[in-house]
Amino acid sequence: MTDTASTKTPLRLFNSLSRSVETFESIVPGTARVYSCGPTVYNYAHLGNLRAYVFTDTLRRTLAWKGYDVTHVINITDVGHLTSDADAGDDKMEAAARTQAKSIWDIAAHYTQAFKQNIADLNILEPSRWTVATDYVPQMIAFAERIAPQHCYELPTGLYFDSTTVPDYGALAGGRDDAANARIDPVEGKRHPSDFAIWRKSPPGEQRQMEWDSPWGKGAPGWHLECSVMSHDTLGHPFDIHTGGIDHREIHHPNEIAQNQAFHACCGGDESVTPAVAGFTGARWWMHNNFLVDRAGKMSKSKGGFTTLFSLIDRGVHPVAYRLLCLSAHYRSELEFSGEILGTALTRLKRMVMAVEALKARDTAGQESTVNVNLPILEGQFQDAISNDLMTPSVLSILDQLLAEKKTSTAIALRLIKQIDDILGLNLLTLTRADLRIRPNDATITETEIEAELDRRKAARANKDFATSDAIRDSLTARGVEVMDGDPLGWEWKLDLN
Ligand code: AMP
Ligand code: ZN
Repeated sequence: MTDTASTKTPLRLFNSLSRSVETFESIVPGTARVYSCGPTVYNYAHLGNLRAYVFTDTLRRTLAWKGYDVTHVINITDVGHLTSDADAGDDKMEAAARTQAKSIWDIAAHYTQAFKQNIADLNILEPSRWTVATDYVPQMIAFAERIAPQHCYELPTGLYFDSTTVPDYGALAGGRDDAANARIDPVEGKRHPSDFAIWRKSPPGEQRQMEWDSPWGKGAPGWHLECSVMSHDTLGHPFDIHTGGIDHREIHHPNEIAQNQAFHACCGGDESVTPAVAGFTGARWWMHNNFLVDRAGKMSKSKGGFTTLFSLIDRGVHPVAYRLLCLSAHYRSELEFSGEILGTALTRLKRMVMAVEALKARDTAGQESTVNVNLPILEGQFQDAISNDLMTPSVLSILDQLLAEKKTSTAIALRLIKQIDDILGLNLLTLTRADLRIRPNDATITETEIEAELDRRKAARANKDFATSDAIRDSLTARGVEVMDGDPLGWEWKLDLN
């Protein structure tokens, strides 16, 4: 790594394993390996899901800025995730295929594509590698075969992991919570409530759309097995950072850890970095973003009524406004969502874009001022804030201060904005106000018609025909267009976000 300013402040990250902020050091110097639990593609991602990927993207951008060569893997879960996080309920993919009367492969392809579109719209960097669960079934079976003799038992419904066979099951969740597991997990024959299926047999007489032969009969892999195998295959164990939403801290990740421990015990890892099995988790850091909540509570796909990024865009909101909204809260805090809060984020984004446009105009006009002494201070504050467990709300307020500085060297200010925006990913140096003006789906007038009306209004005003000019303005207002005299943009859509 180079000794740039970005590497001077050590990176401190909250590790859910220790429940504390620790100084980050990667296992292999200069490289960082990150695995993020990806979406289950039985439906569109809701805004809460997408918050998880804005968080991992901020992490990834920060690691890159610190000089690490980052390998980032996100998986696509296209099989195995049940409607309950434990082992009860239906496979979400099979259920969606039935309800929508489509093949499960079509369902997966459609929602995977939609998710990738969301990622692009939010300016989230593509992972170094996407892994698709159904591409890894042979590896999953091989992994399960290796750990089965010591750690698993078979029931008519599948192969189950015995959670008492690893030394510290559930440590990530703050300890084993048998009572909670017992409440949610009605599977018959399980030895302990927190045991979980790593292979689920197809029910007798029932053909699943997705099923594979295995030593335990036809069936499908368990959801937790997928992430252990794909992270092991793509990054090796232990890798540096595993991420997911905070719900995963309770069941999915403890189960992954149990499998990783079992595999490590029987099949070894790199002994030079992981001599002991107790405490081995497969990743050095486990990081979790908190929930996006709305009035009804945690936003969730299974509850329905969720808001997608597509629906925001349909209503005329630029997707980067949602990214800004995510960054306005620390990733470990709950974030509230409402139309009003989104509207505030959109206005804030517009102000930022306008300020950068003004700065660029001054730069082009060669209006250079003497170097502003505040800029190095703000730069230092920015570096401290992002290095302090990714404090994006502080970074945003530092950016606000920077944009409010009137007498700055434009070149230095623009360089600092670029440095900050490389982390925030708001595209502040290229976005224009015109880009932010997105046509709402229900608009009854086209941009060409609006421009024609505005030309007509200009002519009326030139003729001092103010009655006509006012009438045109009123008619545009009635059709959801706000006319802005004296503003080079000319007009904007009036958005109804409630
Ligand atoms: P899923 O597609 O349900 O497997 O979830 C994809 C990611 O979104 C996981 O990391 C979840 O933990 C995360 N997630 C789910 N709901 C929310 C929410 N309301 N807020 C933030 N993250 C969430
Ligand atoms: Zn996972």
